[in-house]
Amino acid sequence: MILFRFKRFVSFLLALLFSGGMLISDSVTLIPAEAEETNEYIVRVGMYVDTTTDCRMFSSKTYSADGFVIGYSDGEHFVGSFTIPNDTIYILPQVNANFDASTEKCVEGEGNVGSYSLFVSKHSTFTQASFKAKTIGGFVAIVSGGFEVRKNAACSASEVGSGRVVSPKENGLTILDANGNILLTFENTAKKFALKGKNGVTEFPMIHRSGNINTFGYWGFFEYGISDGLLSMVNCIGLEDYTKCIMANEIGVNFSVETRKAFSILARTQPLGRKHKKDGFDVCCNSACCQVYQGLKRMGEENNEIVDSTRGMICTFEGSPITVLYHGSNGGASCSSVAAWGGDEVPYLKSVFLDEEGESDLWELSFTKEEFAEYIASRSKITGLSGDALSMTVLEKDPYGSDYITVLSLTDDEGNYIELRNSEFIRSACGFKSGNFTVEYSTDMPVVTADGSVKTQRVTGMLTADGFKPFSGFDDVYATADGKTVVAPDRITIKGIGSGHGVGFAALGSEKLANDGYSHKYILEFFFEGTKLSRLY
Ligand SMILES: [Zn+2]
Repeated sequence: MILFRFKRFVSFLLALLFSGGMLISDSVTLIPAEAEETNEYIVRVGMYVDTTTDCRMFSSKTYSADGFVIGYSDGEHFVGSFTIPNDTIYILPQVNANFDASTEKCVEGEGNVGSYSLFVSKHSTFTQASFKAKTIGGFVAIVSGGFEVRKNAACSASEVGSGRVVSPKENGLTILDANGNILLTFENTAKKFALKGKNGVTEFPMIHRSGNINTFGYWGFFEYGISDGLLSMVNCIGLEDYTKCIMANEIGVNFSVETRKAFSILARTQPLGRKHKKDGFDVCCNSACCQVYQGLKRMGEENNEIVDSTRGMICTFEGSPITVLYHGSNGGASCSSVAAWGGDEVPYLKSVFLDEEGESDLWELSFTKEEFAEYIASRSKITGLSGDALSMTVLEKDPYGSDYITVLSLTDDEGNYIELRNSEFIRSACGFKSGNFTVEYSTDMPVVTADGSVKTQRVTGMLTADGFKPFSGFDDVYATADGKTVVAPDRITIKGIGSGHGVGFAALGSEKLANDGYSHKYILEFFFEGTKLSRLY
C-alpha cells in the first residue's frame, strides 16, 4: 500500500512563514500558519497541463465572495498565512506581468502592471513590510528568506526610475486586485504559492489557449506554478470531495443506485494510480485522459449520498488500487487492455462477456467511394497512403475473444498497403465511436431474379484479393469474364457497436446487472476479474 499518503497522519511544526501578529491594515488579517490536518488522501488535480490537450493559462482571474486565504502549499496541505478581503484577484506569471486588463491577457510591451520594479527595503516580517508598503504606495514581494517592499512597477527596467531595479523572476507570481493593482508578488523559490476561498469555494474562469472559457467553483485549495511562462494550477482536494465532483459530471443521476455505487468506487480509485506523478499531480481534468473534473458543476445531494455510502471503498488487485478504465458500452464483450493498447496482459483487464448488454449501442457510417477516400485523407493519424483510399479490411481481433479489432489494413489506388494496430489507435485514427466494427462494401449489380429476368440491385459483400465478393444470398450475381465480380464497389459502410475504448467497466452492462438485482460489489468483480473491494479508511 505504498501509494497512500493519507496514512501519514502529519502533524506539522512549521516555521512561521509570516511571523508577527498585529493587524496591519483593514485589508490584511494574519492567521496562524499551520497546516490543515486530514487523514484523507489529498488528490492533486492538474488544472492546466495534461498529456492530451494543452490548457495552460495566461492568467487566472479568481473569485471568492468572502475573500481569500493566502499562504503556501507543502504539497498535500494548505498553510494559511493571511487573508485578504478582495473577492476578485488575478494571479499571473511575473515574467509576463505586462497585463492588459481589457483583454485579461498578458501582452508583450505595453501594459498596465509591469514586471520590473524598484527595490525600497527588506524586512523580516510580513507585518513590517506590509506597513511600509502601505505608507509609500508600494507592494510587498515575498522572497526567499524575507519580505521586500517595492514600488514603481513597470514593463521595462528603464521605466522604474533610478535606484536598484528588480527584474522579473522566472518562477515568480504577481497577484493583482480587480483593478489591476499589484497586491503582492511571490518570489520565494522555497515555497509554493497557494490560496483558497475563505468560504471554501474558489471560482475562476479557465482561459485556455484556444480561447475557451469555463467558469466553475472548486473545493480544496490551489497551488500555483509556472511552466514556460504560463500559469499552472493544482487543485488539492480531499478524495471524498473529489469523488463527488467526478460523479456529478461523469455519471449523472440517471443510472441505478448500484451502478452509481460501483462507479463511485471506481472514481475514487482512479486518482490513486497517480497517472500524472511525473507532472507533479495525480490526475488531470481532461476526460479523455483521466476523468471529467469540473469542480462543483452539476453537483447534487443524491450522488453525494451515494459517495458517502461507499466512503473509503476502493477496488484493488493483490492489495493495490487497480488501473481504472470505464466506458459507455461494448455490445456484450469488453475489450482486453492488450487489444486496446498492446503491452503486457493485465489480469483484471481481459475480456468479459455479458450477452445481455445486447446490441444497444449501434452506430453506422456510410461513404461513397469518393467520400471514403476524402474521409481517410482527412485523418491525420492515418499515414502511408498517397493516393485515394480504396479499401479497409479487418485482419485480426482481440485475442481474448471480443470483437474489438487489433489489425486493420487499408489500401489506396497507388498500390500502397498499410496496417493500423490496437483497437484504441484504430478508433482514434479512424475517428470512429469504437474499435468494434465491421466493414461492408456494396454496389449496384445485375442480379437474376426468381422469374429469370435480370435487374439491377444493390448487393453487399466483402472486398477480397479476388475482388468484390457478395455475401451469401447473392449467388446469382453476374460475374465478369475473369470470374471476378466488381473490382471497386461504389459504397463502403462501417457498422459498429459500443462507445469508448471498451475496456473495464461498461455503464450499460452494469445497468443490466443492476436491473437483474446484482450489487455494486458483484458488478465490479464482474468487470474486473480477480479484484476485490478494500477500505481505505
Ligand atoms: Zn490525465
